[in-house]
Amino acid sequence: RVIVGTKVDQNHVNWVTAYNMLTGIRFVVSRINAKMDRELTPADFEAKHKFSFDITGKELTPSAKYDFKFKDYAPWVFRRLRAKFKLDPADYLMSLTSKYILSELGSPGKSGSFFYFSRDYKYIIKTIHHSEHKLLRKILPDYYKHVENNPNTLISQFYGLHRVKMAYGRKIHFVVMNNLFPPHRDIHQTFDLKGSTVGRDLREEDLERNPRATMKDLNWLRRNRHLEEGPMKREIFMAQLRRDVSLLQRLKIMDYSLLVGIHDLGRGNEEKLRDKTLQVFQPGGDRDDDPGTNLLIRTPSKLESARKARELRLTLKRERPVPIQQTAAKMPDEILDERKNLVFYSDDGGFRATHENGQAGEEIYYLGIIDCLTPYGIVKKAEHFWKGLSHNRNQISPIPPQQYGERFIQFMEGITMSKEEAERLQQSRANE
Ligand code: ATP
Ligand code: CA
Ligand code: CA
Repeated sequence: RVIVGTKVDQNHVNWVTAYNMLTGIRFVVSRINAKMDRELTPADFEAKHKFSFDITGKELTPSAKYDFKFKDYAPWVFRRLRAKFKLDPADYLMSLTSKYILSELGSPGKSGSFFYFSRDYKYIIKTIHHSEHKLLRKILPDYYKHVENNPNTLISQFYGLHRVKMAYGRKIHFVVMNNLFPPHRDIHQTFDLKGSTVGRDLREEDLERNPRATMKDLNWLRRNRHLEEGPMKREIFMAQLRRDVSLLQRLKIMDYSLLVGIHDLGRGNEEKLRDKTLQVFQPGGDRDDDPGTNLLIRTPSKLESARKARELRLTLKRERPVPIQQTAAKMPDEILDERKNLVFYSDDGGFRATHENGQAGEEIYYLGIIDCLTPYGIVKKAEHFWKGLSHNRNQISPIPPQQYGERFIQFMEGITMSKEEAERLQQSRANE
């Protein structure tokens, strides 16, 4: 894969932060997983627990390399959410904590958030602003209910909400979520779509310099792209999108995007793996050179996964006297099979393109609604005012949540039309 970012090792400026995050996650997740399952109560949504770590270890916490404090939010709720999203508890811990290797994507957006990939590339840790943290806590009951009623929701899957307080006092809020893009496939094109056109353009020169840079709405339109899903899948997709957007509207959230990653089966995986941290999951070696005939999901070999799961389970057992829960006994490949039942991840971790006639297309789409924790607050209102003075009101990006959602849906309706359908529509408009 190409988008690997920089590896966070001991020499990295954010090594201590990353180490503290992972140490904290390991501790709080094992702690909650060790408890007997029970029903959620309203108090679970508000719960927060504080732990402090130091070199010697405390009554509650094991020793760590650095001094820091860690806060865990709504652990029961996130445990339930991880189960709803079909994550295996042992697998989750293994990905995030078996070795302290992450890669950092720096700060790809304007917001100043940092992104870290777990070593196997399955999870993303995103540092978030305090306002986003507050929002997620506030909406957690609604979000939870939505996931419960919409197992195929396209909204970001949140697996944990935490805060680390560094020894020198800085507080960093972060979430753990799904990486929409698969570890085993090259993503040839990425689009971040909002349904707005103002400022939604990646300069084509920049794309020449970095062919994998994330493109935006205008780049999509300029390429006359279509999300070819065929009538049936299109209906499923749009129906889910409408439900998701109506939740975001109700919660007065905006600024979210549809992230679209496109894997071109004709091109296959051309790039050699550059990141050693990922090679753990590529026991087959160099099949990346295979120009597209390779349609198999390349997951770790069953043996390797089973061995790692067993090792982790043993470690967990050693660490705590309490027996770990039943579900942890599942093998990672069974989990992968379960995820296959989620509609938009059912074709090799994504959603296979389909032509109007039902024939399978040459692309796999990886889709999701991301960056959905921005409240329509004072900042946005101010921005709305200032930008409103100089641009067409409908086109500016920071419009109120209701309109934001409508414009978003309208755009997605447009881009999910097949080429043929779009042409027919154009024809009939021309004839009018
Ligand atoms: P801004 O607020 O300026 O838009 P941000 O820091 O909030 O930026 P996001 O919009 O969440 O960042 O994401 C920035 C980019 O990171 C996305 O365009 C996408 O390329 C990548 N990204 C974000 N979330 C995911 C995800 N779940 N899976 C894969 N890639 C992601
Ligand atoms: Ca964004
Ligand atoms: Ca953002």
